[in-house]
Amino acid sequence: MHDIFKGKNILIMGVRNKWSIAWGIAKAVKPLGANLIFTYLGEKEKEAIEKLAADMDNVSIYPCDVSSDRDLDDLFDAIKKEYGILHGVVHSIAFAKSEDLQDTFVNTSRDGFHTAMDISVFSLVAVAKRAKELMTEGGSIITLTYRGSEKVYPGYNVMGVAKAALEASVRYIAHELGPQNIRVNAISAGPIKTMSARGVKNFTDILEIVEQKSFLRRNVTLEDIGGTSVYLLSELSSGVTGEIIYVDAGYNNMGL
Ligand code: NAD
Repeated sequence: MHDIFKGKNILIMGVRNKWSIAWGIAKAVKPLGANLIFTYLGEKEKEAIEKLAADMDNVSIYPCDVSSDRDLDDLFDAIKKEYGILHGVVHSIAFAKSEDLQDTFVNTSRDGFHTAMDISVFSLVAVAKRAKELMTEGGSIITLTYRGSEKVYPGYNVMGVAKAALEASVRYIAHELGPQNIRVNAISAGPIKTMSARGVKNFTDILEIVEQKSFLRRNVTLEDIGGTSVYLLSELSSGVTGEIIYVDAGYNNMGL
């Protein structure tokens, strides 16, 4: 187990700080031998990643705003030059305008709707299109979703609609890339206190309810998500693709 990612190049997109789910995943896969490629949005995030990854060897960091095709092209050109081949991608990125997470869903603006879909959904399609060119030995792509795609969480609003589209995109991409032995799956994480989560109205209430009602009577941790990511990014899950895997302490199966 200790070297299942030896010689594997894994791209990790979406580390903002030490609370980020993407950082939890990086911490889980790094000790298993992976070479990590991080992307950042803005200088503050770059500094945060440099600090977090200071003790890690075989790491590189590139800028990438996923709303820019130019940034995406530059990123994958750079990865091709430096590594030649890619084995895994962690897409842990989402964004909605704060007003669209505070107001009612029917008041979502056209621009807010487009922004949420572009950053949180189309980015996976755009990344997969470029990643598949470098996954010449097969590979694994994972993304992060939330149960607000299926059920109504008041305040999650346009992000719930974006997550529904993201999950459908996982299945379409998985179908198309399957013949190249590239697997695509999503982890549907239970609520975790991160910067993005703070933007969701009633988030603290959601944490409390999950703690009381989930099968495990607790909220999930970055380590919980990290463990499932190791499974999905490695050959341990070689027959699994197009799936939405809940890591939510069992909460999604509660009826009441
Ligand atoms: P986070 O704020 O730590 O990470 C979000 C990341 O998205 C940040 O690094 C941010 O820079 C990046 N991002 C936003 N716009 C971008 C852009 N234009 N280009 C490039 N990067 C951009 O929050 P998180 O909770 O770790 O979120 C990661 C993923 O997990 C998201 O998809 C989120 O919806 C999902 N998720 C979170 C929870 C939760 O409760 N925290 C639950 C389920 C799913």
